[in-house]
Amino acid sequence: MPFESKRVQQSFRVECEKAQAPCALLLTADCQAVSGLIDYAGDWRSPRAFQGDHIDPDGGDDHANLQASCRECNRRKSNSLDAPAEVVFATWRRLTSR
Ligand SMILES: [Zn+2]
Repeated sequence: MPFESKRVQQSFRVECEKAQAPCALLLTADCQAVSGLIDYAGDWRSPRAFQGDHIDPDGGDDHANLQASCRECNRRKSNSLDAPAEVVFATWRRLTSR
């Protein structure tokens, strides 16, 4: 889910970078291997780049609904949310059985 407000998106990023907040999702093995470390200074196209994640995709830009995530996990999460329930379950099974 994209941000409704560019201003909130930017200020949230600044806040996370200041705190060096790690990825809250930890969905991928790569992310888990580096304990969710986010590369705030690197290229935005890097899998380890920062992305603001909406905890509830329909919850809007409220700060309580935002968490830091890496680009890779954020993409994995939105793929799972778009997928039918059985695919989400299969993905979850594969992730948790590692
Ligand atoms: Zn991650």
